[in-house]
Amino acid sequence: DVNINEIVETSLQTVEKQAKDKGINIKVGYPEESLTIKTDKDKLIRVFVNLLTNAIKFTPHDGEVEISVTDAGNHIQASIKDNGIGIPPEKREKIFDKFYQVDSTATRKAGGTGLGLAIIKGIIDGQGGSIFVESETYKGSTFTFRLPKELKEEDFTEIEQY
Ligand code: ATP
Ligand code: MG
Repeated sequence: DVNINEIVETSLQTVEKQAKDKGINIKVGYPEESLTIKTDKDKLIRVFVNLLTNAIKFTPHDGEVEISVTDAGNHIQASIKDNGIGIPPEKREKIFDKFYQVDSTATRKAGGTGLGLAIIKGIIDGQGGSIFVESETYKGSTFTFRLPKELKEEDFTEIEQY
């Protein structure tokens, strides 16, 4: 079992410098009671780090990023919210595809290969979870994912390796 608070702390340490360099403040709302989940620790860190890296990358200087983790019964739910450039409605499905990047100068300038979201969607789906995005163009984006606390055998599928 892995404690979700520890996962969030480790993920925050990984992106601390990136955030600091952009003057971005990251707030965290932890669950009221400490939650544990049966999962691969490194994969869950990867999910948080990828979403945080995106939030920082696509948010202007002095922006705000907020993580919140809640207990959703059989699942844990986590949201990573930013007040950055947002994602146009017609692109919101595609961003989870391999190599897809929203075509704008802001995105190209930010670099990357367009694999981050495809990889973490693979991890989440592979553990019987789900991920979705809500966004308002130029106002920000919120990525929310849910993972079952207990990994059921029938939910487990081999994920594609990159
Ligand atoms: P990589 O993760 O491989 O370094 P990337 O960040 O461009 O590259 P993804 O993480 O898969 O790739 O994201 C795909 C695209 O979705 C991004 O290029 C960007 O256009 C858009 N996107 C992702 N997260 C955000 C966000 N928080 N705000 C605005 N746009 C985003
Ligand atoms: Mg990315």
